Amino acid sequence: MATQSNVCRRADSRFHIEIGVAAQSPRLTLSILQLQGESSPLLWAPGTLLTDQSAQEHALIVEAIKNRDEQRAQMLSVEHCEREAKVLIEHHLRLATAEQRGGYRV
Ligand SMILES: [Zn+2]
Repeated sequence: MATQSNVCRRADSRFHIEIGVAAQSPRLTLSILQLQGESSPLLWAPGTLLTDQSAQEHALIVEAIKNRDEQRAQMLSVEHCEREAKVLIEHHLRLATAEQRGGYRV
């Protein structure tokens, strides 16, 4: 069954993979595929929904690429990935803390 979270997760993965394809870099695309396979289920787990902010960041990245502003596209992409990594770390810490208290709460 397609849930909103699954739809968003697939769209997010497709965005990142298409960036690699558009860059015509098989190495980048392969790295993105691997990273998406590992991080996407965690990023889109209950309690970590990223939809609005991620969509806004994606739009800004696309705009920078469209304007051929390589430095801005790179900066926005790095910020996007760092923010999502921070979300993953915070989510992991919440789960670990909840586990120490005897239960999961996300
Ligand atoms: Zn993204």
